[in-house]
Amino acid sequence: MEQIPEPVTAGTVLNARTRARLGARAAETARWLTGQGVVAVALTWVDVSGITRTKTVPVERLEHAAAWGVGMSPVFDVFLLDDSIVSGRHVGGPVGDLRLHPDLDRLVPMAALPGWAHAPAHRYAQDGTVHPLDTRALLRRETDRLAGHGWSVKAAFEIEWAVSKGDGAMGDGEGFSPACRGPAYGMTRVTELAGYLRDVLTALKESGVTVVQLHPEYAAGQYEVSVAVEDPLGAADTAVLVKETIRAVSMEHGMAASFSPKVEADSVGNGAHVHLSLWRANADGPVNAMSGGDGPCGMTAGGEAFAAGILHRLPALLAVGAPTVASYLRLVPSHWAGAFACWGLENREAALRFVTGADGEQATAANLEVKCVDAAANPYLLLAALLAAGRDGLDADRRLPEPVGVDPAGLAEDERAARSIGPLPASLAESLAAFEADTVLRDALGEAVTDTVSAVRRGEIELLDGATPQQVAAVTRWRH
Ligand code: GLU
Ligand code: MG
Repeated sequence: MEQIPEPVTAGTVLNARTRARLGARAAETARWLTGQGVVAVALTWVDVSGITRTKTVPVERLEHAAAWGVGMSPVFDVFLLDDSIVSGRHVGGPVGDLRLHPDLDRLVPMAALPGWAHAPAHRYAQDGTVHPLDTRALLRRETDRLAGHGWSVKAAFEIEWAVSKGDGAMGDGEGFSPACRGPAYGMTRVTELAGYLRDVLTALKESGVTVVQLHPEYAAGQYEVSVAVEDPLGAADTAVLVKETIRAVSMEHGMAASFSPKVEADSVGNGAHVHLSLWRANADGPVNAMSGGDGPCGMTAGGEAFAAGILHRLPALLAVGAPTVASYLRLVPSHWAGAFACWGLENREAALRFVTGADGEQATAANLEVKCVDAAANPYLLLAALLAAGRDGLDADRRLPEPVGVDPAGLAEDERAARSIGPLPASLAESLAAFEADTVLRDALGEAVTDTVSAVRRGEIELLDGATPQQVAAVTRWRH
């Protein structure tokens, strides 16, 4: 399909001319979609609790939706993971409306759901201004802020999921029964579900996702897919599309996919690690600031400052990146989840694993992997917060401490303290307290978002107060 540049930017106010342009472009897109056999478009956004919500339109209505939006209650921003509702200072209650507009640049037919297309939504208030809880707009704003200083970021989410037998699994709400028995990283596990995995790969490819790797993971029934890096907004949109594609293919095969941080209370969890590299604008094109410098592991001063900015704020960032009570069942030492606030070269027990790539490919491959985060996070909000933390690191010209080359859990507590290896929050309440005290993140995300994050997190803490790990895992298992 011919790509016409999307006129909507973070600061856009929809006026009559913009609406007319969007409508005309959507009419053309709708004709193309009809030719592809698409009958309906799912407009999605991710709420503050990390759940992808949707309104859908028949393809004939896409033109109207692009110009005028589809009505939606703002109250979904204060939904909890079990669909109960809290209220914050900015959102709550049954009154009000906002408009969802399909982002035509990111609209794709969903190969895993024949007849359907997926379009991440822009969210506008009825007066045509960007809604303050449009986390996609927030991410665009953070990306633009870095661009204003000559920086860009490439990002990708690595998605882990666990597959359960039985098409009743989700309906039953509770049960998880691994759909394969092979060992961790074992070829047996590929062979057992080869048709399923082939269909996942095919559907992703046909939906325009570039997969770079797929492998069986450690926990029972667990797999992981890695995709190519993109600009931050593209990476977050792709994370949503990847999850929905895996979910759909799993159901088609009579199974259920769980992206929960802790599928079973006594097992290794699902992460959704974020890979980030910072790039500097240059006459010959952008150059990777994570490589080719004389800082630690070859980082440039800018790359180091960006990474140090993220390391410095990890406890607060977890309120966004590890947003559920279950996230803290996952985030425990010696489970490769990155439970310590430190960084290390290829250290899978460090919250920040630095990756240089093999000799000769560092200039493109070097990146920072944020391991302590999971797929319950709203990927837009998480990337916006990570970019804000990195930007503050650049502004403050922060430096990294010494890298950690061992599992920090094996060090004595005083040695960890001497090496500035802080413990990460052990609960959602702890990370929320760090988030609420963090003025840099509060300023970057804005009052409406920070207040809503607090309201939703507090609501989920109360919801699961006193629950056993087994109960927390059961409530969370099929929600994200
Ligand atoms: N499943 C681990 C987690 O909870 C990650 C394993 C890995 O390093 O890929 O993050
Ligand atoms: Mg993994």
